[in-house]
Amino acid sequence: MKMAVVGGGLAGLAAALDLVDAGADVTVHESRPTLGGAVQTLPEREGDPQPPPDNGQHIGLGCFTEYLRFLDRIGEGGSVLRKRLALPVLDEQARRSDISPSLSALLRYGHLPVRERLRLPLTLMRLRSARSQPEETFGDLLRRLGETDTSITAFWDVFIRPALNLRTDEVDSEAGLFTVRTALLGPRANSDLVLPLKPLGWMHGDAAGRMLGDRVRLDERIESLDDLDADAVVVAVPPAESARLLGEPDPELESSPIVSVHLLFDRPILNVPVAGLLGSDAHWVFDRGALTGHAAPDGGQYLTVVASGVPELMDVRGRELVDRMAAQLTERLGAAELVWSRVSREPYATIALRPGMVRPGVETRRPNVVRAGAWTDTGWPATMESAVRSGRAAAQHLLSKVPAKVSV
Ligand SMILES: Cc1cc2nc3c(=O)[nH]c(=O)nc-3n(C[C@H](O)[C@H](O)[C@H](O)COP(=O)(O)OP(=O)(O)OC[C@H]3O[C@@H](n4cnc5c(N)ncnc54)[C@H](O)[C@@H]3O)c2cc1C
Repeated sequence: MKMAVVGGGLAGLAAALDLVDAGADVTVHESRPTLGGAVQTLPEREGDPQPPPDNGQHIGLGCFTEYLRFLDRIGEGGSVLRKRLALPVLDEQARRSDISPSLSALLRYGHLPVRERLRLPLTLMRLRSARSQPEETFGDLLRRLGETDTSITAFWDVFIRPALNLRTDEVDSEAGLFTVRTALLGPRANSDLVLPLKPLGWMHGDAAGRMLGDRVRLDERIESLDDLDADAVVVAVPPAESARLLGEPDPELESSPIVSVHLLFDRPILNVPVAGLLGSDAHWVFDRGALTGHAAPDGGQYLTVVASGVPELMDVRGRELVDRMAAQLTERLGAAELVWSRVSREPYATIALRPGMVRPGVETRRPNVVRAGAWTDTGWPATMESAVRSGRAAAQHLLSKVPAKVSV
């Protein structure tokens, strides 16, 4: 049985591998010159430090079970660092306090006044059974439970914003509840941080490409599903393109951007692998050199700064953005000279999970054609986990309707 997968991001790759494992004759069509989709390493430029920068730092969590299984399947299970959640958060005076999912850590979280800290365990307990109301943001729900502007800015936003790529006050309350229940209130290992140790392109697209071999066609944008020589198709592309290929109206799902700035300083200024910064455009900063096992040249430090859900930064010119991020880091972490920089903007990084957003599921109106993508209705926020789950669900759905092997 001939099966085509359109789109070589994590969703398409996960679908393709399941179809191959079931014995199908699969071809993956990807419009770009590389696989991996939104999980990419930037094309190398002269003067880049090693390893070349990614389009944006990606973080997984211990609860990303299907994503971790996918890494194992492509031989890259060892390419992540898994550590217990303890996120150093630095305030404007560089005072550090860590976010950890333990009662004692919550009570010690120094960026909140004592009364607000004491409320955190209570709120977390109430979130186990809390119900969201229609059109409610997660911020609205938290305030109903007694949280305040201060706790939302200094605690909840620190992890909700990067996890859901929207501010707590913008994101759908169900998505916030799901995140907290799955990552923080589930089994302890669910909240583990999973950090890539290799450039994203190498450990995702390149590795999956080696598994799929000559089943992959790169630089091949599919204009119409009718052009495919296939009995069944997985459409694993972003929302508007998916609708175009399927002949459906554009679902007009709003997207949310991510801006990443890669900075090489002449000396070390960050003494942890990752830190969140309160009151800064640089929401999170990662020591890319240390995480990828590459000492920065001449005793310097190679950092990646990430700002999530920040449409306002999309229009800031590259040089200004670099200067702004570098100044905010050095003011807080210590003086250093910037010796290299590179900016990566992803305007459509994820869908914007605002209240009321409706995501289509795996089935389409066309027989033997299924839909996949992190943005589809997987029950998960638009993450790597959602992408892999959507791809696997799409493959299972096809296989339930069409036999992978034609029996003779
Ligand atoms: C900067 C950034 C940071 C992120 N950080 C995190 C994070 O920390 N943790 C996390 O879990 N997630 C993160 N994400 C989200 C995550 O990367 C995505 O949700 C996921 O990778 C999407 O996978 P996908 O396969 O659904 O879609 P995509 O990766 O968008 O793949 C779709 C593919 O289809 C191809 N395509 C499109 N049209 C056609 C066509 N007509 N013919 C052929 N091919 C076509 C595209 O080129 C693309 O390769 C981040 C995303 C970005 C951009």
